[in-house]
Amino acid sequence: MNESSLLSAAPRSSPHQNEARHPLGELKHGRPVLWTSERRGSGEQDSRISPADVDAAAARLRRFAPLMALLFPELAPSAGVIESDLLPVPQLQQALALPPDFGALLVKADHALPVAGSIKARGGIHEVLEHAESLALRHGLLAPEGDYRALASDTARALFARHQVAVGSTGNLGLAIGVMASALGFRAVVHMSADAKEWKKERLRRRGVEVLEHAGDYAEAVAAGRRAAEADPACHFVDDERSRSLLLGYAAAAPQLARQLDALGRKVDAAHPLFVYLPCGVGGAPAGIALGLSQIYGPHAHCFFAEPTRSPCFLLQMLAGTPAFAGLGANPSVYDIGLDNHTEADGLAVPRASELAAAAVQSLLSGVYTVEDETLFQLLHQIAATENIRIEPSAAAGLGGPAMLRGTSSGQAYLHRHRLQARMPQATHIAWTTGGLFVPDEEYARFHARGAALAPFSSTPRKTRI
Ligand SMILES: *Cc1c(COP(=O)(O)O)cnc(C)c1O
Repeated sequence: MNESSLLSAAPRSSPHQNEARHPLGELKHGRPVLWTSERRGSGEQDSRISPADVDAAAARLRRFAPLMALLFPELAPSAGVIESDLLPVPQLQQALALPPDFGALLVKADHALPVAGSIKARGGIHEVLEHAESLALRHGLLAPEGDYRALASDTARALFARHQVAVGSTGNLGLAIGVMASALGFRAVVHMSADAKEWKKERLRRRGVEVLEHAGDYAEAVAAGRRAAEADPACHFVDDERSRSLLLGYAAAAPQLARQLDALGRKVDAAHPLFVYLPCGVGGAPAGIALGLSQIYGPHAHCFFAEPTRSPCFLLQMLAGTPAFAGLGANPSVYDIGLDNHTEADGLAVPRASELAAAAVQSLLSGVYTVEDETLFQLLHQIAATENIRIEPSAAAGLGGPAMLRGTSSGQAYLHRHRLQARMPQATHIAWTTGGLFVPDEEYARFHARGAALAPFSSTPRKTRI
């Protein structure tokens, strides 16, 4: 691979210089890097997910809105629609030392999504609703144009009670699936990985969801869930590594975001580039959104995924097969390069990327960068101090994006390659804050204190820890 496309944010004086100059060395040592894709715009877009498929997912969520309002009182103000705000964050932008001539920073506030408290409300809830819809249609409980509130009837609940919905999760997906499935009357089973937070398990158990704990990581929890589900024909397993329905639920966020940008008077075109920074675990959520945005904005939406330095599975997936990473295999894990997948960003603690998600964004992704846990806590604290926004560590990963683009040579090379430098004053940067609403106060106070004890993160190039 071209060396210029993967460079660390660390200065050249690193004592590990020789090894550090090899991209694998950078990743192995857990240093923050920005990799930019040279495959962007090459090849065909993945034809398995068309704009019509995304529209269909958005239409499904609209059909269900009256039922959702009935099941979840907190959705009354939005008439059953689960959506988040797009927020200007001028104080945060200033605190991050991002100059206005690099564009305007906005936050897509999925940290406050009702019902699930994270971005998983999009994909996870869509998949449960799609499953419920197909069961109900098959059993004649619903006319295609009928009133979906019929699915709250005793007859419908009796049907759902004979079926099970299961999922493997590090926490947030389990919360979304478990809460939605149990609200409809399904038996719900969540296979949790060892790194899942205790409060997430507790919250599910209180809702009558069966929580099965596994000693291993996220990939093992998924595998265990998949095996258990295969043995039971009345079980629908939400497969985070392979599900098209999840991806479509996430993609449906794109048309809504486009309406919000319009409403703020922010254009997106060749003269007004859009940069979107998406925290990435297995890759389904960011890939769905990137796909949806590319269907609307084409090459003018530049999507970057953000991963913890110790769990960069999607980056590894993108690098697999390039000369510098020969021998990694087609679907590598972060353990293969000696990383431990330990991070406080539990929503992103994933060792192996979804191949479905990777294929979906292969030719449209702009890049992937990595963030140290310490940086996540700095950013979590800064967004609270400046904008009074409360997020979880995973959700902070997107906030580091503009600095990586601006402050690294690979970022500058990307801007140069796409002739974007002169356009930056008109650019829009959106950091997607992906979770946080239900983090218990004590837990949040710990995160906040950890960030407060650190020097503020700033977008000027800095020396990173070795
Ligand atoms: C799940 C999750 C993500 C990433 O979604 P993937 O589909 O796993 O890539 C990001 N942030 C939070 C808070 C999450 O829970």
